[in-house]
Amino acid sequence: MIRFYDTMSREKRDFVPGDPERITIYVCGPTVYNRAHIGNARPAVVFDTLARLLRHTYGERSVVHAANVTDIEDKIMAAAAAENVPIETITERYSRFYFEDLAALGVPRPDIVPLATQTIPQMLGMIERLIAAGHAYEAEGHVLFDVPSWPGYGGLSRRPMDEMIAGARVDVAPYKKSPADFVLWKPSSDDQPGWESPWGRGRPGWHIECSAMIEAHLGETIDIHGGGLDLEFPHHENEVAQSSCSHGGAPLARYWLHNGMLSMASAKMSKSVGNVVRINELLDEGHKGEVLRLALLSAQYRQPLEWSASLVAQSKATLDRLYRVAGDTDGGDVDGGVVGALSDDLNTPLALARLGAINEPSVLKASAALLGLLASPASHWFQGSEDSASIETRIAERTAAKANRDFAAADRIRDELKAEGIVLEDGPGGTTWRKE
Ligand SMILES: [Zn+2]
Repeated sequence: MIRFYDTMSREKRDFVPGDPERITIYVCGPTVYNRAHIGNARPAVVFDTLARLLRHTYGERSVVHAANVTDIEDKIMAAAAAENVPIETITERYSRFYFEDLAALGVPRPDIVPLATQTIPQMLGMIERLIAAGHAYEAEGHVLFDVPSWPGYGGLSRRPMDEMIAGARVDVAPYKKSPADFVLWKPSSDDQPGWESPWGRGRPGWHIECSAMIEAHLGETIDIHGGGLDLEFPHHENEVAQSSCSHGGAPLARYWLHNGMLSMASAKMSKSVGNVVRINELLDEGHKGEVLRLALLSAQYRQPLEWSASLVAQSKATLDRLYRVAGDTDGGDVDGGVVGALSDDLNTPLALARLGAINEPSVLKASAALLGLLASPASHWFQGSEDSASIETRIAERTAAKANRDFAAADRIRDELKAEGIVLEDGPGGTTWRKE
């Protein structure tokens, strides 16, 4: 039996999907206006691992995994204005980069990737129903959700109303009936992107996007809603309010799963903090995507994770060791202990410890695949590092030959490397090499 900690009920519960042949997962995705940082990769890797577990347990075709791309938002508009290009230039560029970065971490594109700009009619429909039901109102070209109209508000984050009002990003907005009310639709000026609506030309608020996409692609009540803990309030609280009030009180999700935050140098890594490490920078530094993936899975997903150079180095060493055991096998049966660890609220540290104890190559390979690890044959994994180790060895032999005044041997080594496309450069600090 799979068990997950459900944020809504604040307890670990047996996972019982609505339909075991169509398990629906929705994860809030990126707002695409710059390169993703490693903290953005954590929910993507966590919920990809969860989807792998569910597919293993319920069948390869049992899971429908959706994650949105927010492609209209004020930060995108600012980035487009800074480059003097249409917003599509920004959003197409950075969503392509986002999926490339994640692919390097072994995260495939989700089954459904709805775009906000392609879900406008569904958002308008939901806003109209909320107004008709008395849960939203129009004021000065805006449409706002009427928070006091729904007593269930606050049920997910369990915060007192005064704290929620303080925590909400409250603009100076005299047209709001209650300070907690949040924007469903806002007006666009002529030079801003916008769509026609019953309330004038405008664009959607951020929260309504997810509620409308879930309804359009997955249904009224989904099995699992995922996202970072930083989204619990106000974003997820607002999603719950919009969806429940549009659907006669039906719950939005049977299980709410929130991943903990990634920290770096003790500063919280969220979009608003400048101290970030971008995924592509880590890859460019030569770290393999699978190493970054293992580092992200080294802590249980609900726990905070501190990112550091030593975490990355340890993850590399762990993978080297696992690859040496697995070799070039094709994979076989899955280890029950690994499945058991993952089934207990995705206990990846325990699953990794179990992987380390497996001696049978085919079992190791198949079990590691549940975590998206050991994806290539060991001969590929070690290829690059063996190359550079052997080059360094031959450079050391050449240095020794020169020290012994055996210049013929030194020249022979240099020529052999040159024939392999490796150029040596002698400098005051010693000999370095580069590919030709
Ligand atoms: Zn969302």
